[in-house]
Amino acid sequence: MRAEMATEIYAARCMVYDVIEKIDRREEDRAGASMAKLFAAEVTNRVADKAIQIFGSQGLEKGHPVEKMYRSSRMFRILSGTSEIQKNTIAKELFKEKAL
Ligand SMILES: Cc1cc2nc3c(=O)[nH]c(=O)nc-3n(C[C@H](O)[C@H](O)[C@H](O)COP(=O)(O)OP(=O)(O)OC[C@H]3O[C@@H](n4cnc5c(N)ncnc54)[C@H](O)[C@@H]3O)c2cc1C
Repeated sequence: MRAEMATEIYAARCMVYDVIEKIDRREEDRAGASMAKLFAAEVTNRVADKAIQIFGSQGLEKGHPVEKMYRSSRMFRILSGTSEIQKNTIAKELFKEKAL
């Protein structure tokens, strides 16, 4: 589980850095930005979920660091554009490219 968590975090970090580099070069990549936000938010949730699994029932106790992490991680799929809205943006950009 730790290997899966580390791999997903690495992949999310690569996506975020890639988009940041494009922004620095003033290249527009709306789909890429939404993909990075979507993937990082979903990874945050999956990693926090696995952390609870590793700690077992202890991880569910209110105030335990991984319980707090799990609760906090959930907000990333809602705030600053829900996962569904990120998917809508990605799809719109993909269809726009096809229409060109
Ligand atoms: C911890 C936290 C901090 C926040 N901080 C801020 C902040 O600082 N500033 C700020 O402006 N807002 C903030 N928000 C608000 C946040 O941006 C909104 O909650 C978010 O945009 C979703 O809007 P909503 O809650 O009205 O849900 P709704 O828009 O009512 O959506 C409800 C559900 O329907 C889905 N949905 C809606 N439309 C579509 C669609 N067209 N296609 C598919 N699915 C759809 C959504 O994905 C969601 O799952 C914060 C929210 C949280 C939880």
